[in-house]
Amino acid sequence: MVQLTNRQLCHATRKDGQPCQAPALSDGFCFGHSPALAEKARQARLRGGQNKAQAVRLRRLIPPRLAPIFDRLEQVLDELHSGKLDPRIGSSMATVAAAMCRLLAVGELEERVRSLEESSKNAKR
Ligand SMILES: [Zn+2]
Repeated sequence: MVQLTNRQLCHATRKDGQPCQAPALSDGFCFGHSPALAEKARQARLRGGQNKAQAVRLRRLIPPRLAPIFDRLEQVLDELHSGKLDPRIGSSMATVAAAMCRLLAVGELEERVRSLEESSKNAKR
């Protein structure tokens, strides 16, 4: 069993040659670099269909309007971990994405209130 130690950093080197900055598990590597977890991930990929079904279920939890933002952020997470993306850019993108989500949430709430007001007007007639 590989557990998070929350003290050490990962021993692996990222694709850009820099040391990985992610917190290490008990085997000295992070989630992305752990050979033990890589084997588990390989086995999970072999089970394919099952995991695909779970991904589809997870996907349904995301409001359709937010799906493109979620996809982009997922990509940002990968790029940050592999060292392809400057953490400052990742951080800025997360801030902007959070603002977009808040705006969408307010818009959705307004739409629901408007719809409730409409149906209450109709009920009075
Ligand atoms: Zn790592």
